[in-house]
Amino acid sequence: MITLGLQEKNTLLAEVNQRSGANVLECYQCGKCVSTCPVSQYMDFPPREIIQLVKLGQRNEVYMANSTWFCLTCSACSGRCPRQIEIPAVMEAIRHLAIEENYVNDSTKVKEIRKFHEIFLDMIKRYGRNYELRMMAEFNIRTRNLFKDMHLAPKALLKGKIPLGVKPMKSAKAIRRMYQLAEKLEKKHQ
Ligand code: SF4
Ligand code: SF4
Repeated sequence: MITLGLQEKNTLLAEVNQRSGANVLECYQCGKCVSTCPVSQYMDFPPREIIQLVKLGQRNEVYMANSTWFCLTCSACSGRCPRQIEIPAVMEAIRHLAIEENYVNDSTKVKEIRKFHEIFLDMIKRYGRNYELRMMAEFNIRTRNLFKDMHLAPKALLKGKIPLGVKPMKSAKAIRRMYQLAEKLEKKHQ
């Protein structure tokens, strides 16, 4: 349920602005972001509404919405926003804040997206690049959907879209060090 907490101090707005570097208050609700967003129809709240909920300090609704997880960070919205609001950065800031504050959207789709993010980051950490075949296999195993999209594999393999082997990038070691540093910093700020 959405409750109007206009009298209370809106800490959510300050936190989102600070994390994202955007000024959400600049939004005048024109809706251009919604008409541009390729996934807005699947979101609990499209970008314009997420922005408005942040302005109203509706922490629970904002954190629990699938919107920030469905966001593709494609920047189509911010490219058309007349107020130059960096909406993907706002979405990312909300995702991080929700995780830190232990808000969990446990819908199947959001759980799958989170797993996808984890596996992708793990690939980059290990190889310095993505390894599509392994990523597909791990994703199917971890979501217990072993044969998902398997019918696409032969065609993609034949067309050379999915390399069979993986050659770690020369910079893989440096990337691993970057991860370690980020993990240390994260622990320090907990
Ligand atoms: S396009 Fe920009 S100003 Fe318009 S509703 Fe979206 S965020 Fe607000
Ligand atoms: S960055 Fe996210 S919110 Fe913006 S258009 Fe792309 S998917 Fe939609």
